[in-house]
Amino acid sequence: MKKSILIRFGEIFLKGKNYLFFENTLYKNIKWRLKEFDCELTRTAGRFIVENFEDDDLDDIIDAIKCVFGVVSLSVAYEIDTTLDNIVEICKTIKLVEKTFKVEVKRADKRFEMPSNKLEALLGGIILENNPDTKVDVHTPKQEVYVEIRQNGKSYVYYEKIPCLGGMPVGTSGKAMLLLSGGIDSPVAGFLMAKRGLKIDAIHFHSYPYTSEQARQKVIDLAKIVKKYTGNITLHIIPFTHIQEEIHKNCDDEYMVTLVRRFMMDIAERVAKENDCSAIITGENLAQVASQTVEGITSTNKMAKDLPVFRPLISFDKVEISQIAEKIGTYETSILPYEDCCSVFLPKKPVTHPKLDRVEKNETLLDRETLIKEAIQNQEILKI
Ligand code: ATP
Ligand code: MG
Repeated sequence: MKKSILIRFGEIFLKGKNYLFFENTLYKNIKWRLKEFDCELTRTAGRFIVENFEDDDLDDIIDAIKCVFGVVSLSVAYEIDTTLDNIVEICKTIKLVEKTFKVEVKRADKRFEMPSNKLEALLGGIILENNPDTKVDVHTPKQEVYVEIRQNGKSYVYYEKIPCLGGMPVGTSGKAMLLLSGGIDSPVAGFLMAKRGLKIDAIHFHSYPYTSEQARQKVIDLAKIVKKYTGNITLHIIPFTHIQEEIHKNCDDEYMVTLVRRFMMDIAERVAKENDCSAIITGENLAQVASQTVEGITSTNKMAKDLPVFRPLISFDKVEISQIAEKIGTYETSILPYEDCCSVFLPKKPVTHPKLDRVEKNETLLDRETLIKEAIQNQEILKI
């Protein structure tokens, strides 16, 4: 019997005027995710259908679809040409495992004449005949048999709706620049904002030779994992060593972290604007580490002059963030013990409540513009 995969998407974005834009974007995103498989993706009103795939690929195809934002659920279904006989025949083969069940018919194709409730009663009777130990329970069935009669002349019979990620199709909210460190938080932050439809580019600050080649590779590996959910990522790797050396040489030791953060945000905004990003994303969190105080975040935030900064993890506990990281597959890579540029020249006592006038006074000791331009000019751009 032919198996197909039915893909359901959210009703939310189906209502507005932009319906086609959302549906087309989702279609393209699923197609991109399935490009490594030999299969067809077709559209019928309110559903996408994957068909003509190798049975061996089924599990991998399901896993791939489960990474696409905008997909609410999917089902593996038996596909038949719509006739009453075909539907009856397939229901005769059903062997239930549970003791109670119910049949739910969805008749999207109104050309099929028998109303849903009549068909449900008919098919329920047939299934009962072949499963004499079971009972129909329309309120709390242990198992359901779903029959969908679609407009494409096909009908689909299945038992299970597998929940997927939901959210909005990536690209429907524009593009944002993610500050991607090698830590646990920033990949999760990127994942969560992509869930709201943002396409992601990433920027990473690297302090070679204080930080190693492995630290750089770790970030590339993280971007590759995040890409499964976000689509292709352009990764900007910014050489940060000279800036950090200059701060270390010229500025108050305890302001090192604060100043570094402001450089990062300033550069991130410039690179974001050069690359058509309309927002910035960080993995910042309130009160997780010493630099993440309200004053610390205020001082960094001042450097983003034109773009909004999204901090989806601001209120999360580390455990909650780690759970998401495990679920999306970034955790194991994030905990690899390679140093981040923030640990270079780390002062013994970083200031936790930076004073803006002192921050700005320190910055007058640096040739910020030249340093920033030099860093951006020497960036390495990778297509992930
Ligand atoms: P993460 O787990 O994402 O590294 P964290 O808990 O270590 O976060 P911080 O080190 O304070 O927190 O960093 C806060 C945010 O600043 C990060 O989530 C990331 O968005 C950004 N950031 C920090 N270091 C870098 C870096 N080397 N390159 C790019 N962005 C960075
Ligand atoms: Mg970090």
